[in-house]
Amino acid sequence: MATRSALETQLAVVAGFDNPRADLEQYPTPAGLAAHVVHAADLNGDVEDRVVVDLGTGTGMLALGAALRGPKSVVGVDVDRSALTTAAQNRRRVGTKTPIGWVCADATDAPLCPPDPTTVVMNPPFGAQDGNEHADRAFLATAARVSEVSYSVHNAGSEGFVEAFAADNAGTVTHAFRAPLEIDRQFEFHDADTAAVDAEVYRIEWAAG
Ligand code: SAH
Repeated sequence: MATRSALETQLAVVAGFDNPRADLEQYPTPAGLAAHVVHAADLNGDVEDRVVVDLGTGTGMLALGAALRGPKSVVGVDVDRSALTTAAQNRRRVGTKTPIGWVCADATDAPLCPPDPTTVVMNPPFGAQDGNEHADRAFLATAARVSEVSYSVHNAGSEGFVEAFAADNAGTVTHAFRAPLEIDRQFEFHDADTAAVDAEVYRIEWAAG
């Protein structure tokens, strides 16, 4: 298996959002964090020969990271068609031959029912914006429905919520780790150029998937 830092280097070419939308909480995952999540999933045997679904894929960072680690196929879902156009361009930059479908749909009501063993990787909206509250909960509900195992990135302090959601939905949190996440200034309401927050990543096994 290639190293995590090799994966980070391969993902460095992935472009972010042209015009990020605050209402959709469009924050791109940095290549380092994406490599961290995908490498951990690969080490756990959750990528190779599986279908990998990236909910709220944006410009494809996590989907493309997974595509570089030998899955059967990858599906990236987002409501923003222009982000998916960038994701398709990023796919060419990354240069993977893995079959990838870009699906323009609401991830909380996604038309997905994969017939093969499926892993979800996602950095969903945190549900912090008006009109998008509890988005993280709705994305986890989709992960519970379509996958046997999911990896999700959350903002710091989500442990109680994630544990409780998993317990209520036939899920078990098997791993959790913290990773630094630098968010570049991209919206007017940010007053610093970058903000450092600790992201939390959870691996959840879903019984019902
Ligand atoms: N996962 C990407 C983008 C994270 S930002 C990355 O790792 O870089 C969150 C993404 O969720 C944005 O692309 C936004 O367009 C998308 N999104 C927000 N609400 C959504 C919904 N209901 N259904 C699908 N995608 C959604």
